[in-house]
Amino acid sequence: MAKQNIDWANIGFGYMTTGERFVSNYKDGKWDDGVMTTDASVTISECAGVLQYAQTCFEGMKAYETCNGKIVVFRPDLNAQRMEDSCKRLEMPVYPKEKFVEAVCNVVKANRDFVPPYGTGATLYIRPYMFGSGPVIGVKPSTEYQFRIFTTPVGPYFKGGAKPITIKVSDFDRAAPHGTGHIKAGLNYAMSLHAIVTAHAEGFDENMYLDAATRTKVEETGGANFLFITKDGKVVTPKSDSILPSITRRSLMYVAEHYLGLEVEQREVYFDEVKDFAECGLCGTAAVISPVGKIYDHGNEICFPSGMEDMGPVTRKLYETLTGIQMGKIEAPEGWIKEIN
Ligand SMILES: *Cc1c(COP(=O)(O)O)cnc(C)c1O
Repeated sequence: MAKQNIDWANIGFGYMTTGERFVSNYKDGKWDDGVMTTDASVTISECAGVLQYAQTCFEGMKAYETCNGKIVVFRPDLNAQRMEDSCKRLEMPVYPKEKFVEAVCNVVKANRDFVPPYGTGATLYIRPYMFGSGPVIGVKPSTEYQFRIFTTPVGPYFKGGAKPITIKVSDFDRAAPHGTGHIKAGLNYAMSLHAIVTAHAEGFDENMYLDAATRTKVEETGGANFLFITKDGKVVTPKSDSILPSITRRSLMYVAEHYLGLEVEQREVYFDEVKDFAECGLCGTAAVISPVGKIYDHGNEICFPSGMEDMGPVTRKLYETLTGIQMGKIEAPEGWIKEIN
């Protein structure tokens, strides 16, 4: 099939219906075989567990065309594992990991004319998700579930270069100790909407959340993990049980150590030490790394030496190496790139 006639470089990050999506239902204790469908609508009970008690989790990853014209997905096995972890915490049935990866590949294959061409910066975003579809009125897990995967093309995250952003230390908490911050649950996002709308209204791009118990340690933003670079070039990322384990962050830490020969550290990061770092970035599937230029904390500003014009030099190296691996220009570690045939 021919590529869709889309202005790939200018589509932004929004939802667009594509050709086919995958649907599988869980009932009587087991998953059915699942089907591909052109129907983009979901019909469920008015009393479905997802609608009443938010029993739902999701994943996010991308398919894209490499410099050799191959269509690939980046580390979908890690998304499958993370969704398993999310499901277990939410008392939802696990969708088998091998079948998850197979379904992701099938959905991408079915929508290959929506995979943006190499060089446009655009990608095909893949959204697997699961929700309680059976009725529950007393608070308990649903007995029926639906697992779906749709795709939607998204534009380049940075148009005209990655400009550093300004973030604020939030007065809201993202995740409680021993709560659900480490899983990819919709509920973590529902309660963050007020905080992000407030931050935007105040002129900030994102929120930095501190640990809820002591408000002294850096956690993450609403949807991305932090990476810091020390003045002597070490890569530091916060460690906490309430941070969502970003696949991009884990990949960047590997790249820092094994491709760039940098020292890496995953440890508790106190907010008090943030002013001493040389560079700061946010990592996630959407942008890979968004450079942070400035952090606003109740009247005090932390301005990183990397400034407000460009990514810092180490952040840039990390960004270029990981995107080079993803785009097929740099050899990938074993198992990172799943080719769609
Ligand atoms: C999805 C997500 C991330 C980024 O994870 P990636 O696997 O790198 O896309 C970071 N923080 C939160 C809260 C998330 O939901």
